[in-house]
Amino acid sequence: MKLILLGAPGAGKGTVAKLLTEVDGSVQISTGDILRGAVRAGTELGKKAEAYMKAGDLVPDDLIMGIMEERLQEPDCAKGFLLDGFPRTIPQAEALKKLLEKIGAKLDFAVNLDVPREVILDRLTTRRTCSNPDCQAIYNVKSNPPKVEGVCDKCGSPVIQRDDETEEAISKRLETYNEKTAPLVDFYEKEGLLLNINATSSDVVVQTIKEKLGIA
Ligand code: ADP
Ligand code: ZN
Repeated sequence: MKLILLGAPGAGKGTVAKLLTEVDGSVQISTGDILRGAVRAGTELGKKAEAYMKAGDLVPDDLIMGIMEERLQEPDCAKGFLLDGFPRTIPQAEALKKLLEKIGAKLDFAVNLDVPREVILDRLTTRRTCSNPDCQAIYNVKSNPPKVEGVCDKCGSPVIQRDDETEEAISKRLETYNEKTAPLVDFYEKEGLLLNINATSSDVVVQTIKEKLGIA
């Protein structure tokens, strides 16, 4: 499957993408994960991206398109991909459209995970992430805590709060989302690709996507 996952920070794009990879082996491509990896590794890209990310601002479009041009042409994408956190702006969506035409890939849907704002705010402030870059399991202190507090169930590494998940950075990210990313819903509606889903449960989202793809 070839999908874009749209939705506010905390809408569950990463969780849904992980569940979908298990359906047919399509790869999850998260620009947020790629960027955090680059920051940790101290690469040129990481140095350029770090300050924007800490502040909850978007990284410039040209940096993101540079990453995605390469990533989408890697062999593992031929089978299918789940774009998680990309595109985030109208210019990125337009550039993606050209890139997909160039490489001859056709999207199935742009899935919009529609979640009420109160739910988003609550999830983001209570979200915790495994600090191991190869794991990055997601927890929630209220609804899905690790079995041992602060320790990842899967790999035993410390479970932490991301530095862009302070209250200030969260409200900035939501503001950035409303201003820059929410317009993509209309963009994909016009493209005839939009699949809007009320997304309070990830399992229901996955089921709905499978039904629409005819693989349920
Ligand atoms: P979120 O949980 O807010 O959806 P992500 O993990 O997708 O967060 O992204 C974290 C940060 O990385 C963003 O706040 C932004 O600074 C940067 N980022 C990720 N993807 C993009 C993108 N497609 N365009 C611009 N910036 C991006
Ligand atoms: Zn872990």
